Amino acid sequence: MSNAIFNNLGVILLDRDGVINEEPGPILTPEQFVMIPKSAAAVARLNDQGWRCLVITNQAAIARGDLNESVLKTITEKMDSELEKSGSHIDGQYYCPHHPDWENGQRRTEAKQCTCRKPGTLLLEQAAAEHGFSAADTVLIGDSTSDFAAAAKWGTCSIGVRTGHAGQDGKASAEPDYWKADLWDAVDFLLENSS
Ligand SMILES: [Mg+2]
Ligand SMILES: [Zn+2]
Repeated sequence: MSNAIFNNLGVILLDRDGVINEEPGPILTPEQFVMIPKSAAAVARLNDQGWRCLVITNQAAIARGDLNESVLKTITEKMDSELEKSGSHIDGQYYCPHHPDWENGQRRTEAKQCTCRKPGTLLLEQAAAEHGFSAADTVLIGDSTSDFAAAAKWGTCSIGVRTGHAGQDGKASAEPDYWKADLWDAVDFLLENSS
């Protein structure tokens, strides 16, 4: 019998903004993408465990017309190069480009919910199908109530971090299973409590 909280962890799901990078507002350029202290080193520790790290991120700036897919790609390249400085990497990224009230830079006449925008679970399901894991083999680390609500809906454990929105976005009433100061602290917790 193991007393570990986390058994058979194979994949760590990471929200991006407010977890990996600072989030003063929507990130629209590579220059605006600034790492949270020790987040790259924290990802390196996850990599060392052999746990795959997948980013699951809402990027509604695309629907608002403030960001396009090619600029998002350059922002992802910035993230990758910042991670590489600490010898760390992300194994995949899933993003939702939608917003219920916006489409192609125009306000929608009628709100329309997609199923991929967190708290929707479609991106989690896609990641699980493509990387071969289930809700029980993973944990989601996020800073927003939409992260915690998505994790709860899909049936996976969540860790909230006090960086970024620190759960204060007020969008949903969801709480994470655990609270930690930042990604570094969350990784400490994972390493101490996994079998
Ligand atoms: Mg976030
Ligand atoms: Zn979507």
